[in-house]
Amino acid sequence: MAGDTVTRFAPSPTGLLHLGHAYAAFAAERKATPGKFLLRIEDIDRDRCKPEFEAAIYEDLHWLGLDWPLPVMRQSDRMAAYHAALDRLAPLSYPCRCRRGDIRAALSAPQEGSLPAGPDGLIYPGTCRHRPMSDAGPDDVIRLDVARAFEALGLERISFRDREIMPGHDHALTRDEFLDGIGDVILSRRGMGTSYHLAVVVDDAAQQINLITRGKDLFDSTYIHVLIQKLLQYRTPVYHHHRLIRDDAGKRLAKRDDARAIRAFRQDGATPDDIRRLLAL
Ligand code: GLU
Repeated sequence: MAGDTVTRFAPSPTGLLHLGHAYAAFAAERKATPGKFLLRIEDIDRDRCKPEFEAAIYEDLHWLGLDWPLPVMRQSDRMAAYHAALDRLAPLSYPCRCRRGDIRAALSAPQEGSLPAGPDGLIYPGTCRHRPMSDAGPDDVIRLDVARAFEALGLERISFRDREIMPGHDHALTRDEFLDGIGDVILSRRGMGTSYHLAVVVDDAAQQINLITRGKDLFDSTYIHVLIQKLLQYRTPVYHHHRLIRDDAGKRLAKRDDARAIRAFRQDGATPDDIRRLLAL
């Protein structure tokens, strides 16, 4: 319905959910119109995702008191949609055979000191940019030619709004800032058929998400998502990048921090209200 706020929580089943996930899930649920909080399982990385972690996600979220419409979208079921999007982006893409060592070597030649890095690691120096898509082989990744993408869009800059960080102002990057700070983004990883960035954009559009709530650690990736949204002619949602939950030493929680797993709190006798209190909700 027009005026609904549709949000999502999009965990990857690579480990048990911890307090940071609970915070992200509550943040999304609180902002959604009733019945419009969606769950999406981000399981494109078949080596790291496990069915037992997916089952644990459903169980832990239900225990926390959360509910969502069925069926749940699972990225492993969506390869056809990602391939269709890759096809649409093919005129602005190129196959790349560089491995991390090649990229390091190409970057270190003219550079002194630390190598330039962005949200996806080292900034790709463009070695394979001249290769045509007709040359793509199974060992290649597919990259977006960002300079050509900006040119095709006829845009000086891409931008989005955040409800939490400088609300009311645009967060924007020009083409050169994008190239210097992020580089030619990977659209399809070796053996995966997509990348996190492509899949998340295609799925947020398919699920008609209009408010994306997620941790501040993904703030810089949002520029990548907005560029892909524009190229695929999707609407750019509003963003809310929320604070990260940290451990006592101030370190961001990761899935390997089993002591902070929701399950561990539950086994120690905590209630869902205790979890909310711990998260200051
Ligand atoms: N699947 C991502 C994660 O578990 C979240 C992606 C997103 O919210 O865009 O960190």
